[in-house]
Amino acid sequence: MPELPEVETIARELRPLVVDATITGAWWDWERVIRHPPPEAFAEAVVGRSILDVGRRAKWLVLDLTGGAVLAIQVKMTGQLSVPLAEEARDKHVHFLLQLADGRELRLRDVRKFGRVGVYRRDEAGSILGADEARELFVEHGPEPLGDDLTLAAFRLLLRARRGRLKPLLLDQSLLAGIGNIYADEALWRARLHPLRRVTSLRRPDERALYRAIRGVLTEAVERRGSSIDDYTAPEGDGEMQEHLDAYGRTGLPCPRCGRPMRRIVLGARSTHFCSWCQRLPADDRDAGALALIRAANRPRRTATRPRRVRRGS
Ligand SMILES: [Zn+2]
Repeated sequence: MPELPEVETIARELRPLVVDATITGAWWDWERVIRHPPPEAFAEAVVGRSILDVGRRAKWLVLDLTGGAVLAIQVKMTGQLSVPLAEEARDKHVHFLLQLADGRELRLRDVRKFGRVGVYRRDEAGSILGADEARELFVEHGPEPLGDDLTLAAFRLLLRARRGRLKPLLLDQSLLAGIGNIYADEALWRARLHPLRRVTSLRRPDERALYRAIRGVLTEAVERRGSSIDDYTAPEGDGEMQEHLDAYGRTGLPCPRCGRPMRRIVLGARSTHFCSWCQRLPADDRDAGALALIRAANRPRRTATRPRRVRRGS
């Protein structure tokens, strides 16, 4: 699932393709792709407007249109955007498109159909109005992890207002916007912090290490145009961060720092990858719940061969 670096890459590569283009029509064959306003009002909300800029908020693309309108696109798991000429054949997985005045189309190809688009409005202060979804996106999401206003001091205040363990906390979009499973694991590995570590047990150097790790890994991933795992690809093709991941998806492979095998535990139905040597869990955080998770991860994997059954009474 695309996270901040992937969506940022799409935004950067889409910008030169669509800025100044004027929208002349909208088409879709899957009504649920339209999140706001209701589908019967959607075309009217975008047709005749030009695209002024393409940006990103959290995991959404944000296209500023003339007249104070904002088109937000969420690519989700399998959404891919492209801007071909209208006469170019489109496959059956294109479920939404905008026609542009110059004869091209902004197409959303989406095999699993989880992608969503919405049109909202900006008020004079620049905040986005128009729907509960806009509120969730622009108000309830936490700050941007790469934003200039997220200083180390601001990050410390955010962390100190929280309880709970680090991995679920990093996935909580109300803490920081845009971090998902890949970059949460990478940031914790870089900061040498165990995913089950309690945020309340962090010391000042730990907070600083986590801050630097989050910003460092996200910056590097943007430079490498994201991780092309599963279906993510950008307008200019696949990213290359997947070749440079140290923790995510490396279960059983040697830790790039100490050489010991990387571990995997399942936390909230998500795989979590870490090095139990470099990322120690302090004694105070080793309660029954944490130990059960770790024991389950250490148990040898079930093999394909069935255990022999001993028939009773024979
Ligand atoms: Zn290690």
